[in-house]
Parts: sequence; structure tokens; C-alpha cells
Amino acid sequence: MPKSLWAATTARPEPYPLLRGRIDADVCIVGGGIMGVSAALALAEKGVSVAVLEAAEIGWGASGRNNGLVAPGLKRDPCEVRELLGEERGNRLLRYSGDAPNRVFELINEHRIDCDANPGGWIQAANSRRALRRVERRVSEWQALGVDVGMIAPNDLDANLGTGFYSGACRYANGGSINPLAYTHGLAQAAAGAGARLFEQSPATRTERQSQGWIIGSTYGVVVAPWVLYCTNAYNDSHPRLHGTVIPLRTAQVASHRLPQGIAGKILPGAAAASDTQRLLTSFRVTADNRLVMGGASATAGDEHPGLVRQLHRAAADRFPELGPVQWEYGWSGYLALTPDHLPEIIKIDDGFLAPVGCNGRGIAMATVMGQTLAEIVCGADENDCNVPVKSPKPVPGFGLRYIGIAAAVRLNRFLDSAERRLWGR
Ligand SMILES: Cc1cc2nc3c(=O)[nH]c(=O)nc-3n(C[C@H](O)[C@H](O)[C@H](O)COP(=O)(O)OP(=O)(O)OC[C@H]3O[C@@H](n4cnc5c(N)ncnc54)[C@H](O)[C@@H]3O)c2cc1C
Repeated sequence: MPKSLWAATTARPEPYPLLRGRIDADVCIVGGGIMGVSAALALAEKGVSVAVLEAAEIGWGASGRNNGLVAPGLKRDPCEVRELLGEERGNRLLRYSGDAPNRVFELINEHRIDCDANPGGWIQAANSRRALRRVERRVSEWQALGVDVGMIAPNDLDANLGTGFYSGACRYANGGSINPLAYTHGLAQAAAGAGARLFEQSPATRTERQSQGWIIGSTYGVVVAPWVLYCTNAYNDSHPRLHGTVIPLRTAQVASHRLPQGIAGKILPGAAAASDTQRLLTSFRVTADNRLVMGGASATAGDEHPGLVRQLHRAAADRFPELGPVQWEYGWSGYLALTPDHLPEIIKIDDGFLAPVGCNGRGIAMATVMGQTLAEIVCGADENDCNVPVKSPKPVPGFGLRYIGIAAAVRLNRFLDSAERRLWGR
């Protein structure tokens, strides 16, 4: 696991065994992140026999590395989603994503998952007066879809956010925060309790169709199943048909030392988590043990880079100057999956072989509900009529140039973010 706050502070359940020999199942799930274990739980509860293969440890990917910010909705605005998918399909995906955080907190309650869940709402803060207009329009679009969201009155802004950095903000009532690694482990334990068989350190190394069904080979064993769900999302490089179908974007997180209660209590008293409207989106939240966790603010297409965490230290100093020099105890990073249209999708590789991808940085809630949708498809729901678009595998145009492309996009977006603030002011 990376040296993250979550890895350091989350009690690790007994490791799951290595896959050895042959096992038969109705469904083989590859990838033990939120998507994979949510699907495993939903399937096992329906009496379907499931085997989960995780290459490293449960939660090793984005699910154990993220900010823990549970947010409704998608990267795109409702009007854009309807434009891309049409009125009926668009509205279905929007309602599904708008409601997704409710499913997260329901599962936490139902399975008593101990993950510091705080369903105290999510604030989206505007970086400029221009961005504020976009937020206002977005809020009315989501309200029309029945989502409980409202603008924060200008006089209440600083008191809700604990910073005077922003021009305005809205608050989504059903958002919140969690310890994402503990949540992933909790779902995995619930799935195992319902009968799913989970295997760690068991990478899927080949997938081929034979007369008995799909054969999913690993280092020391093999699963034979009529269905395979490849829930590897941004970490999908191991399958040739998935290579290049999403852009893996590396972003970082930092966590401070424990702040005195008097100081921690002043940061974001109005919600459990916040993120902003910058093109290089920055998010922040305070944990149950009073640490400030900041995320985003920059990205690369490649390896860890010290610049990613330095950018976050700067972002914290800009927003919370009263903290003075902060002792940052943890800094880590991971890949999230971007799709060209910024919408999630289910890639259909073949009959009985699906790969859900592209949460575009909104994966805690979306991966949870997409896992449940995959379980419904396995149990007979029409995949062409589900809430998430189902597509054929198609490499992202220009995938091979992503290192240069993302480096250039980060520079351009940093310039545009600061120009927008200078021109449009707070
Ligand atoms: C730094 C960061 C911050 C983020 N912040 C937020 C946030 O605050 N809120 C939010 O909603 N979303 C956030 N996201 C996005 C969110 O974390 C993801 O969308 C979500 O966790 C995806 O879950 P997943 O199960 O689909 O994929 P992952 O959690 O990435 O799981 C994929 C798993 O597949 C495994 N795997 C890969 N290849 C194989 C193989 N061949 N065999 C077996 N296993 C394999 C990997 O080891 C990995 O564990 C963030 C992402 C990152 C990286």
C-alpha cells in the first residue's frame, strides 16, 4: 500500500488468501476496489457465487488512496449530460449519480462499516465570480432533478468554509466524507460474509473464452466462470482490450498532523468535505482525528512526482493562512480514470465480459452504484437499458501522447485558473 494516511490508520483485516488451483464460480470479478467489492456484495446477497481476484490488496488502487469525499453528480453539468446522451438517458444517469451518495451511507449503516462516515454534506466552492455564476446555474439544474442542493448565503460563506478564499459556494445535503480504505474493506468483509470468495496477491494474467466459460488465469490458479467483470478502472493496463480505453490521471493527497481541536473545528464547519471549481480541482476535509486532508491541485500522467504534493501544500497555505507552517505527515498519489466525454461507462468486451470505467474523480459513490448495476446485469437486467452507457472498447484518441498532453493541459489550466481569478476577482 502507499504510505497514505488511510493505510497508516486503518485496521487491516486478516489478509485474503492467494488463489491456488481451479475454482468454479458464476462470476469472476477482477479488481478489489470499491467497484469490484460492491459488485461482489450485491451478487453474493443475490445468491450468486463470486470470486474476486485482487492483484495486490483490497483497496490498493484509487479506492484506498482518494480524499474520501462522497459527492453526488458527475464531472459534467446536467445540461451537458443531456446534450451528450439525450433527454431520457441523460436524466436517468443524472438521477442515478445524484442519488449515489445515499447508497454509500445506506451500505455503511446496513453493514455497520466503521469508516468515520460523516454524512454532513459536500460544499462546492467557486474560485471566481464567473465560476459562481456557473455554480448557481448548476444548482438550479440539480434542484430540477430533485437533488437537495442550495446556495450558501454570502454572509454565511466564510463561516461554512472556514476560509475567505472563495467567491461563493453551494452545499449538497447528501454528500459527506469517509475513510475510503476502511469503506472498501468494510464492503469486502460484507461480501465475504455473504459468501463471496476473495483472493489477494492474485493478479488476473489471462482471460480466454473456452467451452466451459471464461477462464481467468492467475499466478497459481484459475477461475472458471460464465461472467467476468473487469473492475480495474484506471489500473486496467493488464488487459490488452482495455489498454488505452481511459486516461489514467495521477493526482495526490496530503494529510497534516493532528491539529488542535480549536483550529480543526474552524475548517469547514458547514460540511463534511469541500472541493472547488478550479480546472485543477482542489478538495479539502478534516478527518475524525482532526487532520486536514487536501487533494488534487495538479496532475501527471506518469509516476509519483514531489511537485504534486508541494502544490497541495501551497493550496493549503492559500486557503488557510492562519494555520502557519503545517507539519504534513503524509503525501501520496494514485490514478483516477478519465474518459474523453467525462462520463462513466461500461465497456462490453464480449458477451459475459464487462469492464466498468471512468468515474472521472467521482468514484466513491459512482463505483458503489455501478457495482450494484453490474450485479443486476448479471442477474438478467438488460445491459442496453441500464443507467450507465454501455460501449465497445475504443482506445482514447492520442493515448500515446498523454504524458505530453497532460503536462501541457496542467500548465494551461493553472494559467487559466489564476487568470480567471485575477480577471473576475473574488
Ligand atoms: C488521488 C485520488 C483522489 C480521489 N478522490 C476522490 C474523492 O474524494 N471522491 C470520489 O468520489 N472519488 C475520488 N477519486 C476517484 C475514486 O477513488 C475512484 O473513482 C474509485 O476508487 C474507483 O474504484 P474502482 O474500484 O473502480 O477502482 P480501483 O479502486 O482503482 O481498483 C482497481 C483495482 O484493480 C486491481 N487490479 C488491476 N489489475 C488487476 C489484475 N490484472 N488482476 C487483479 N486485480 C487487478 C488494482 O490492484 C486495484 O486494486 C479519487 C481518485 C484518486 C486517485
